[in-house]
Order: sequence, then structure tokens, then C-alpha cells
Amino acid sequence: METLDLTELARPPYYKPFGRLMKHWFGSPAYKITIDAGFTCPNIDGTRSTGGCTFCDNTSFSPALRGHVSRISGQIEAGRKFYADKFKADKFLAYFQTFTNTYAPVEKLKALFDDALAQDGIVGMSVGTRPDCIDAEKLRLLQSYADGSAEVWQRKLAEGRTSIARPFIAIEYGMQTMHDVTAARVNRAHTHAETVAAVELTRLHGPDLHLCLHLIAGLPGEDAAMIGASISECARLAPDSVKFHHCYIYESTVMAGQYRAGEFEVIDLETHVQLAADCIEQMPPWCCIQRLVGEITDPGVIAPQWGKTKLQIYAMISDELKRRGTHQASRWQG
Ligand code: SF4
Repeated sequence: METLDLTELARPPYYKPFGRLMKHWFGSPAYKITIDAGFTCPNIDGTRSTGGCTFCDNTSFSPALRGHVSRISGQIEAGRKFYADKFKADKFLAYFQTFTNTYAPVEKLKALFDDALAQDGIVGMSVGTRPDCIDAEKLRLLQSYADGSAEVWQRKLAEGRTSIARPFIAIEYGMQTMHDVTAARVNRAHTHAETVAAVELTRLHGPDLHLCLHLIAGLPGEDAAMIGASISECARLAPDSVKFHHCYIYESTVMAGQYRAGEFEVIDLETHVQLAADCIEQMPPWCCIQRLVGEITDPGVIAPQWGKTKLQIYAMISDELKRRGTHQASRWQG
């Protein structure tokens, strides 16, 4: 893991972007191709709960509305063509993003992940999941990819289809908040203790995995102090990446109905910028800042309406760090 010294972090943008790690790892950018592998979620099918998180898009719950999930090879081919045409890209990460991507027996996971990693141009993968959907066996499978020992990677090397000894393998957990009262309010259906346990299990059985945590700022019922506590707790868990989102309201969600009924207010831009800067200051120096804002341009987003582009918001966050004279890790407690 590349740890930036404080001199480098003290330069704009005052944090370590994910692209920087990709260049360090591969020598050139690697682009994420989003994969829908047909998973569902224990928070939808009744195993943990039904109805899903209140911010999750309900239209995607129905298999009929979700539509046909095409083969992984086809999804990767389409993504590869898109990025090759646009950026002349030749390195890609398979991003298992849709629903809960470890919610299946390990044999099924192996078949899906092997399929993705075997594709030309794929140099790694990122697996998004819930903290309550991981175990030692699944982590050992991911670790076998991360240390390069998995048969699928050894074969790719032997066939001369890659020269990269070890693919980049990330696991992304939705921590979202450390407050169980909030998690219950948004029907998250797991506790913060389960997030901590997942992080500890990952460090034990997947020492070469890149561990990313997601946080949401502005969940119903949370004030800046509560969000600040979650930021500090996330920093204590010392992730390799963090994705810091604002809570945005998508039209077809349970949360949209609650918002329209006046049950809570969305976070304002100034508060989000302050909290994002707080988050950056507290993360360890090796941590990649993968995201600092949630969705804002999708026409399905009904609130907040900040009237800014993502680029403008990123610039506001960097400007805030400059104004403070701080940067990533300047308040890290490690
Ligand atoms: S855990 Fe993820 S996929 Fe499952 S309901 Fe919540 S947001 Fe949706």
C-alpha cells in the first residue's frame, strides 16, 4: 500500500485520490466497469428484513423490472469498449456493485469472480457487499485472488494474457453510520458491531485485500455531531479507501415518501463540505478518498438540489481544506 508523506498530502487536492493508487499499482489508470451479477440482498428477501434500506431504489427489487442480467463477459466487453473509445484505456477493474455481491455460496462466487478476472484487460475487481454477508471462507477466496495464487490468475499469467503478478482486489462494506438507532430507522438491518466484526475478519483472512468503507452524511435523524462520530469511528477502523456520500433522495424509495411527508430535512451543501473536510483530515495517510459526494445529476434524484456539479463540490472541499490549512491525515489518531 502506497502511503503518501504529509508533504505530498499538503498539496492540492489535499488528499490521496483513488486514481493515484491505480497509477502506483499499474503505472497507468484502471477504469471500473460496473457489473450486475444477478445477486439479491438479505435485506430484501426476508433473511434479514424485507423492503430494503429506505434509500434503496425499490424499482430494482422486482426481477421483472430489473430485467435480464446479461453475461459478465458481455458486460465487461461493453465497458471495455466504452472506456477504450473514450480514454484509450487498456486496464479495467470489474466492479461488482449491484445489490449484495457476496450473498451466495462460495462455489457460486468463485465461478462469477473467476469469470470476471479471466476476461482480457481485467486487472482486478472490487466487490461491494454488506458487513453481515461475509465469512472466513469467502474472504479466503478473495485473498487467493489478491495474492495471485488463484488458478484463474495463474492461467492468465501462463497464457501471457497479463503481466501483473497480483490483481488488485477490493472489498467494499456499507458502514453508512455507527449509530444503530439510525441504521434501524433506515431499515439497514445490520448493526455497527457487525461492521466492526467484518473489518476484523477481513484483516485476518484477507490481509492483501483493499478494504473500503462507505459512509453516508445526512441520514434521517442525524446531526453534524452524530455524523462526525461516524467519521471518527471510520478513521479508527483505518480503511484503505473511504467513500463519503451525502444522503440523496431517489424518487422511488421509501425515504422519498418520508421526505415528502416532512419527516426529515436533507443535508445542506455547506454542512456537507465541512463534514467531507473533517473526514479527509481524520483518514490515515495511506487511505484513498474514493468519493466525496453522492449522486446529484440523475434525474431521479429529488433532493437535495444544490445547483452545483460534482467537480464544483470537490473544488469546494479542497478550498475548505486550503482555508483550514489542513489535509488528509492532519487529524489522524493512528
Ligand atoms: S443493503 Fe444495499 S442492496 Fe440491500 S437493500 Fe440496502 S442498499 Fe439495497
